[in-house]
Amino acid sequence: MPGECHAHIFMDGEDYRAAAAAHSAGPDERRIREHLEAYRQAGVTYVRDGGDHYGAGLLARELAPEYGIVYRTPGFAIHREGRYGKIVGRGFSDRKEYGGLLREIGRCGGNFVKIMTTGIMDFSADGQVTGEALPREEVVWMTAMAHDAGFSVMAHTNGAQAVIDAVEAGVDSVEHGNYQNGESLRCILEHRAVWVPTMVTVKNLIGDGRYGDGILEAIHRGQAKNIQEAASMGVLLAAGSDAGAYRVPHGQGILQEYQAFFDVLGDTPAVRQMLRRGEEEIRRRF
Ligand SMILES: [Zn+2]
Repeated sequence: MPGECHAHIFMDGEDYRAAAAAHSAGPDERRIREHLEAYRQAGVTYVRDGGDHYGAGLLARELAPEYGIVYRTPGFAIHREGRYGKIVGRGFSDRKEYGGLLREIGRCGGNFVKIMTTGIMDFSADGQVTGEALPREEVVWMTAMAHDAGFSVMAHTNGAQAVIDAVEAGVDSVEHGNYQNGESLRCILEHRAVWVPTMVTVKNLIGDGRYGDGILEAIHRGQAKNIQEAASMGVLLAAGSDAGAYRVPHGQGILQEYQAFFDVLGDTPAVRQMLRRGEEEIRRRF
């Protein structure tokens, strides 16, 4: 039974605007139940949510036991005001406000803290990440404050230097982690963080027509190469699809992510065992 280590229950994999509108006056229970049912049908028993600002993840967690699912959510993700992350959470402009958001997560019963330390891949220019990464010192205090408040930290991070900064700050998992190099992979290994590379967020767009296939293929090839290297080094890897993102359906998304891992590493008992170990670490930490 695969676990889904990265999902956004408030989105539907198709139309972000329509989904956001549906939850704008409070989480839309009908939509959430539909997605939970998709997980049940796919045999998924564990979902780790990446956040939203409508309370959809928190409602999903209440409903999840009816579907035989252990559901973990940060409530909302946290980003620096003016940087990437508004679509999945709430912003802060200084340390005091960040502390206030941590207390808010405690009040609403969030299970862990999700932070956004960089932008996303720029599909019009390979090798680029949108916007600027947060300064290293900031990621250090964000992580330390979250840990002090008793939360594990899930970090949305792209780019080798940003991954090094996040992992040295002590984050418990690195999400996406595109555009890495040998140094950042060694850093993940050394600090025993779990890497959740969310391959299908890029792979499922190939041939879709929204972005140029050449760039998407290049991004995916780079990620595949780093996953091969990470696996051979013994980095903890876990499967999460970022379900809800464009062209990544709930339920089926994680099965596609598993297939993407098998395409890159081979479908062998050792690879399945490796992914099981990564998921166990995610379940234990989050
Ligand atoms: Zn996400």
